[in-house]
Amino acid sequence: MSETSEVDLVILGGGINGAGVAYQAAQAGLSVALFEKNDFASGTSSKSTKLIHGGIRYLEHFHFSLVFESLRERYRLLQTAPHLVRPLSFLLPCYLGDRNPPWMLKIGLWLYDILAGSHRIAFHQWLTQEQSLQKAPFLKKEGLLGCGVYFDAQVNDARLVLENILGAEEKGAACWNYRAVTQLNKAEDGYHVFYKDEKTGESGVLKARCLLNATGPWANLTAKLLGDDGVVLVRPTRGSHIVVSQVIPGHAVLITTPKDNRIIFVIPWQGFSLVGTTDLDDSTDPDHLVPTEDEIQYLLNEASRVFPGQSWERSKVISAFTGLRPLAFSTGDSASAVSREDRILAEGRLVTIVGGKLTTYRSMAEKALKKIMIILNKKAALPASDRLPGTPNVPMDEFLDTQKKQAAGKYFLAGDQFEYLANLYGQRAWKVLKLLEENPAWAERLHSNRPEILAQVVFAVREEKAVHLDDVLMRRLEIGYSPERWGEAAQKAAHCMEAILDWPKSRTKEEIQRYRHKLFPSPSDETTGVQLDLE
Ligand code: FAD
Repeated sequence: MSETSEVDLVILGGGINGAGVAYQAAQAGLSVALFEKNDFASGTSSKSTKLIHGGIRYLEHFHFSLVFESLRERYRLLQTAPHLVRPLSFLLPCYLGDRNPPWMLKIGLWLYDILAGSHRIAFHQWLTQEQSLQKAPFLKKEGLLGCGVYFDAQVNDARLVLENILGAEEKGAACWNYRAVTQLNKAEDGYHVFYKDEKTGESGVLKARCLLNATGPWANLTAKLLGDDGVVLVRPTRGSHIVVSQVIPGHAVLITTPKDNRIIFVIPWQGFSLVGTTDLDDSTDPDHLVPTEDEIQYLLNEASRVFPGQSWERSKVISAFTGLRPLAFSTGDSASAVSREDRILAEGRLVTIVGGKLTTYRSMAEKALKKIMIILNKKAALPASDRLPGTPNVPMDEFLDTQKKQAAGKYFLAGDQFEYLANLYGQRAWKVLKLLEENPAWAERLHSNRPEILAQVVFAVREEKAVHLDDVLMRRLEIGYSPERWGEAAQKAAHCMEAILDWPKSRTKEEIQRYRHKLFPSPSDETTGVQLDLE
């Protein structure tokens, strides 16, 4: 596609919503251009709790249709993206004095199973205090009345976005990261979209017959680009997570906080615990979000309250991140009670998509595309496929069983290597391995205790649009969230990028510093004492 040409659809925003619509629109035969001002998924879509879930907590606010839709989407994603979405077992402990007594939690769990219907992962269970402590001896015993056990699913959020982007490109869309839309001019039959490319410094303009505002928490600012100064599309609420080296074995845990009635998840992630989230109204500029020390302490205090035998000290926090939930604008309710339902607005040749969840991105994209097709007066030839570029042709277990030996024999892989690659790339794992034929030295691990290899860095740059070191370490591989790993891994990855992209030494240093800043965005994080050797 020539960059000065006219296209059916220009999408602003390369988070899950922009990416999801791009993939479906390209499959429907539209000419599509997507602009993302930073890296794909660098906004809210990689700052999530990484769950594909019905949202059991929304039952208490009677948001039944959202839970119903989410549970169906959960099932679909487990089938169609098994390399990125996996079942996860949850404990829901209930303590004396909690807002919801056991009988209410039991009703909630039953309702959750009923709403999932035949799409449930497994029936829930209710455990007595004794059974709960047998299953989860790390739980606080005092005041424990019982514990629910139920299933939801965990996702690699950044890669879910990326695979939708790659899928869209396979179907002919043009998707650019590090290319911001700077101005929008309304024309009679569409919009002139002005952009600036961070990589090249070039500016340009493209004509769109239809425009999609999928800029999530930036949606109000995007409306201003259209001259709609008074328009308020989203009510952003901030959520922070901490990554902690203390691990809860075997389960995710959902904690209800008696202090302010919030829900906190403690999730096993990357060999650590991901603890979050807070939920507060926030009008901060989405470009300058950092977790606060208060948020970090709040999450640590809640974790130590429920897991008293373990150590939840500040020194165990190895990273922290904050995202803004782009909730559809409403007044009234507290931040955690505002509905997560989507809102898709069409006005003239502009469609806006806000609210919703990562979990429901596919159905949201479907609804948005319907409106876009009406605006463009077009009909899709075929319904869009749910399959992503990495989706294996056979069930995941079968895929691993049949291909593991083959890969190990051909590329001399260690036991865990193919499984790790397949769980990240699905069937595209073979493309990563193919790089070893070009350079066997790329089989070197990024860290001695980790399965990631240099070939993945090369793949991220060549095939997955990674531009900066943090794109590779934090969103293509996720190895980058651990200080135990990042010194060694960052050095190796940076030098690999230097070699393939012909960076001067100064750029390599800048990239390592940039990555460090992304990992510890708050000045207070200097207190963790983690130092990076820049030589
Ligand atoms: P974003 O991902 O923020 O994407 C918008 C993009 O627009 C950004 O990348 C930004 O750079 C880009 N952009 C902005 N302005 C411009 C411009 N001028 N030009 C070009 N690009 C621009 N949902 C779940 O289902 N499960 C969960 O576990 C879950 N956990 C969550 C936890 C937290 C703390 C939060 C905040 C949300 C969570 N959600 C979860 C909700 C889910 O993450 C969001 O609904 C979803 O990621 C929003 O995606 P988006 O594409 O609308 O926004």
